[in-house]
Amino acid sequence: MKIAIGADHGGYELKGALLTALAGKAELIDKGTTSRESCDYPDYAQAVALAVAKGEVDFGILVCTSGIGVSMTANRFQNVRAALCRTVDEAVVSRQHNGANVLCLGAKAVSAAYAAEIAAAFIATPEDASERHARRRAKLERAGRLSDVSGLAQDDPEVFAAIVAQTEQEDTEINLIASENTSSRACREAAGSVLMNKYAEGYPGKRWYSGCVPVDAAEELARTRACALFGAEHANVQPHCGSAANMAVYFATLQPGDTILSMSLDQGGHLSHGSPVNFSGKIYNIVPYTVNRETERLDYDAIERLALEVKPKILLTGASAYPRAIDFRRVREICDKVGCIMMVDMAHIAGLVAGGAHESPVPYADFVTTTTHKTLGGPRGGMVLCKAKWAKALDSAVFPGMQGGPLENIIAAKAVVFKEWMSEAKKGYAQQVVRNCQVLCKTVQDRGYRIVSGGTDNHLFLVDVKSTKGITGKEAAAALDAAGIVVNKNTIPYDTESPFKTSGIRVGTASVTTRGMKEPEMIKIGTWIADVLDNIADTAVQARVKRAAKELVAGFPVP
Ligand SMILES: *Cc1c(COP(=O)(O)O)cnc(C)c1O
Repeated sequence: MKIAIGADHGGYELKGALLTALAGKAELIDKGTTSRESCDYPDYAQAVALAVAKGEVDFGILVCTSGIGVSMTANRFQNVRAALCRTVDEAVVSRQHNGANVLCLGAKAVSAAYAAEIAAAFIATPEDASERHARRRAKLERAGRLSDVSGLAQDDPEVFAAIVAQTEQEDTEINLIASENTSSRACREAAGSVLMNKYAEGYPGKRWYSGCVPVDAAEELARTRACALFGAEHANVQPHCGSAANMAVYFATLQPGDTILSMSLDQGGHLSHGSPVNFSGKIYNIVPYTVNRETERLDYDAIERLALEVKPKILLTGASAYPRAIDFRRVREICDKVGCIMMVDMAHIAGLVAGGAHESPVPYADFVTTTTHKTLGGPRGGMVLCKAKWAKALDSAVFPGMQGGPLENIIAAKAVVFKEWMSEAKKGYAQQVVRNCQVLCKTVQDRGYRIVSGGTDNHLFLVDVKSTKGITGKEAAAALDAAGIVVNKNTIPYDTESPFKTSGIRVGTASVTTRGMKEPEMIKIGTWIADVLDNIADTAVQARVKRAAKELVAGFPVP
């Protein structure tokens, strides 16, 4: 057992007594102070609290004259639970019930001999494993979701209110938006960090500003982790979003007017793949491909014929609303026949690729673009992976080609998430996302709803509510929203409704899986979706589902 121990001048002598009393019982790391000379208690409390927060030690012990100042300081740190104890009983209860990991003592409040007894009891007592105490300890930690931003309560109450509202929404609604996920606390901490203060035009080691050593470290971590996670030769982690990542590839490889062959938006493609209202459609000659009318799947032979005919510079695959696996080997074959660049936009499936639940496009494609906030579950942002031969062209296209200073705080958050993906805790997550999606999809399908392409291989599926119930996607999404289930209206292939109304809804399982839901929850949610859609105008059904949904999500807290 390792214990970090610290004190200010008021607690210096008691600290000395405790070091002697505990010698042999644990490995003691003395964080100071080293004399009776006047000093500031927060300095020593911080040193001990950080050792506990980092997991370097099992426990911390802090002493000042009253014990109050050190306990207040220590409790400002994540994962630190500091207890100011005056009796052996309090020490025991603080361990059993509250899982205290830092013991605070007042030199004026307890004798040296009794302090040693309190400390011995503290380190010898295990946490009470019963459900109610475990639940309360978890709640205690989760109070941090608001404490992280509680400074805003005074500084900017209006913005604070918006954050509280989002927190409450996440705590009470079932989020099935296929392009969203739930970020980790570590990711949010990096994203909100002081790294946002730095200008860093250029790349690590080659910046246009001084003082970039800290952000260079963060960006280098993001780049090397991205390459390791995806097996890529080169990564550019600077694009501010997925659309910017796509723009970077176009700028690196094309001249205005060049031809891109890509999936059309109304069939599942993305705005930045050549929609006429987007820069991509305005600058380049876009030839859209479609899915097969019967199977509603990509028809690789048809794409090959079209590619041989129009000779694109880039063949772009990847989509925002395509529920089936993409055959990247087959796409590579087409690109080789045509002699064009293979570009894959894996924005939606990047997490499935990272977790091994979808074949990786990285070995095949010249360029792979992605967002970092969808199934990948990181901060809102973009990234491009490419073969080494394209590295220089890509980096110049991003900076100075289209962006100035990168968002180093967001880049650090990307690094955090790439590391999470390589951890033990993330094993099996991507597979669970897909299993959940298939169970949810089948539950809705078994209630008679037509599913586009008949099912799903990934994290999303599309329900054709128009042909099943004669309602629009817009009406369906609004009814589900009123019932606490959040999805989005979506066009389906060959849709006869306008993009504002649509015939379908898109349903995804990344966020609910992050919160720990599994197949039994998917069956419940699928049943509720069908209940609401079966009774589209019935507000009583919506109210019943909303109550049940709220109860369900309460058991799956946001990290
Ligand atoms: C979401 C998405 C993007 C764009 O992401 P933004 O960060 O919103 O710009 C690009 N491509 C595809 C396929 C997407 O689904």
